[in-house]
Amino acid sequence: MKSPFFQKTISCPACGEPASHTLLSSALYYSAEKESDGHTSRYGWRKTDVKKTHPPLYSLISCPLCMFTDLVGDYTKAPNTSKSRATIKNYKNMLPSEQKIIRFIYSLIHLERRSHADALAQHLIALFIYEQTPEEDQDIRKIARLFLRIAWIYREKDDLDQYLANFTKKLKNHWFLIPSNENDALNSAIIFFTKAVDIDPFYQDNRNYINALKLIGDLYMRLNDLDGALTFFEQVKHRSLAEKRKFELIYRDKLTEESMRAKSRVELMRISGFIRDVEGICDDLVDQLNVRDAHIINPILAGATGPEEALKRLSAQGLHEAQLRRLERGGRLPQTKKRFGLF
Ligand SMILES: [Zn+2]
Repeated sequence: MKSPFFQKTISCPACGEPASHTLLSSALYYSAEKESDGHTSRYGWRKTDVKKTHPPLYSLISCPLCMFTDLVGDYTKAPNTSKSRATIKNYKNMLPSEQKIIRFIYSLIHLERRSHADALAQHLIALFIYEQTPEEDQDIRKIARLFLRIAWIYREKDDLDQYLANFTKKLKNHWFLIPSNENDALNSAIIFFTKAVDIDPFYQDNRNYINALKLIGDLYMRLNDLDGALTFFEQVKHRSLAEKRKFELIYRDKLTEESMRAKSRVELMRISGFIRDVEGICDDLVDQLNVRDAHIINPILAGATGPEEALKRLSAQGLHEAQLRRLERGGRLPQTKKRFGLF
């Protein structure tokens, strides 16, 4: 059996010192099966005479001299964005207390024979480095991706929770956001992806934007947070409706030039299609929520004397506005009882 690895000397993007690293040849394997949040659940191998290994364990590089750690792709290229430059600059000027955290996590890593625990520790160092960068220079999308990858490592290896319980407890006081299990990591991934879609130019591309929204929805569902998912997609819908109105005004304005009008028409069609998709997702979520909350809804509908009272009582129970509208549209609210004999 041949080794899937090769050695390469790479200069550290932070301290500049060259060091030899063990890398996995990416041409040897491919993602054969993926879960809905992008996690590869099965890898395929292109050659039969190569010893199989688990690729995600080799997706980061750590500098043996300054401990700077990053995804292979980012580690091997010179920092070429203002964000990556700011991250490295900040790393070089880290406070002694922050350096201590990195030294501590680094001391747990065995780079020669990597396990899930080693990969997790490497991810945590990278996450910590990116998180410590001042907010205005932070690469929010990268932080979101690291949180998601950490969630995947936990998913693949449940017993890591136990292994890490002790050391995350130790660090929690110094590093508030340290993810200590899969759900913890997914929660933070949602927060950072939600922020990233608003500010990262990567999401100005429509496909990237829509994929990210689907991913965020998927992560909410994994956390079984239907309410969070509905709130998120309703916000997306309202923002898209506002954007649609903006293009409608341009399109209808008699003074708009023909080329601009044509462009607005294309945008209008795109946004309308997108809104329909989001509405479909919201409808599904409302259905699921109303099934989940049936034990609250049914007794109130049966006991209320009219539609206003029913809505008021349902709302007091914390039901979403969209859930109430669905009951109203579905004709499920009780009708006001006719009072005979008054006239
Ligand atoms: Zn270095």
